Amino acid sequence: MAELTLKERFIRSLERKDVDKVPVCAVTQTGTVELMELTGAKWPEAHYDPEKMASLAIAGHEVMGLEAVRYPFCNSIIAETLGCVFDEGSLDTQPYQLDHPCKKKEDVATISIPDDLLESKRIKAMLEATDIIKGRVSDDVPVIAGMVGPAAIAFYLCGAQNYLKWCITDPELLEELMIIGKKVCIEYSNALFDRGVDAVVIIDSEAGPDILPPSLFESLVLPHYRELTGEMKGHSIVHICGDATAILEMVVGSGFEGLSIEEKVDVAYAARVVGDRICLIGNVSPAATLLGKSTEHIKKEAKQCIGDGVGILSPGCGIAPRTPIDNIKAFVAARNEFYEDSS
Ligand SMILES: [Zn+2]
Repeated sequence: MAELTLKERFIRSLERKDVDKVPVCAVTQTGTVELMELTGAKWPEAHYDPEKMASLAIAGHEVMGLEAVRYPFCNSIIAETLGCVFDEGSLDTQPYQLDHPCKKKEDVATISIPDDLLESKRIKAMLEATDIIKGRVSDDVPVIAGMVGPAAIAFYLCGAQNYLKWCITDPELLEELMIIGKKVCIEYSNALFDRGVDAVVIIDSEAGPDILPPSLFESLVLPHYRELTGEMKGHSIVHICGDATAILEMVVGSGFEGLSIEEKVDVAYAARVVGDRICLIGNVSPAATLLGKSTEHIKKEAKQCIGDGVGILSPGCGIAPRTPIDNIKAFVAARNEFYEDSS
């Protein structure tokens, strides 16, 4: 097979076509303290400032060798745009939620999408960061943007307690919030695709079995995933934290091309379930392995992951900010060694 560009390899992998080797990248957050110090683009500013966001994201590719540029580094953009309140976090902690607008059931009806969604402060900054990244990075490098999905948006808007209660007592209220979330995801992701983003990762752990029973995933979430993926004008990936094993089959039918899984999911088992119907992405543990294990150990786990059948080698979730650059370089090198060892 002729040498593929990074972008061709990434997109062919999402489309489950033949590739010479699996891509290695992160579809979840890539900002680390070492990269921030190297680039001068630090958290919390890099969450809000397009120039800094772009610089830190590009460093994940140029310095650490990840085969995509992936941004932003937080999950607060849509939630804040819809009325949630966040603390901006620090150099090594992501923004975290302080308050939510739906305290009681009646509040759900007050949530609406701003008319000028794409002009709202945080989304506008993301779109500007996209233009900067596209201007600085070769067109051969895939650009991946992340955003929270419908279930996560509902969770942010009503808070954990209401979410867990209402999914049993008032699922229709959650569905109202999810529909708002879905509409935001459609408009926002298509604006990113229009600016040249190659894939959008929908981070929607609150739809997963660790939080929502699979029967509710099927009735409450899945129909909206189908509509969302049907409306998205580019490549789509869903990331679900925790153990997504119980909903693998349903996610295959959701229309997403890629499923990003955490290390709690057994890749070999998942690969048998999904076959070539969806691209499995993952799943070396960012906290247990990439942050603190030796580079030899990181390589061993990464190779195991490829051998077990991931279509894209990636951390199982966001890279921990204190992860050494050398550990991610070893992670990338493991992919190369896997193919050298087996040839
Ligand atoms: Zn995760």
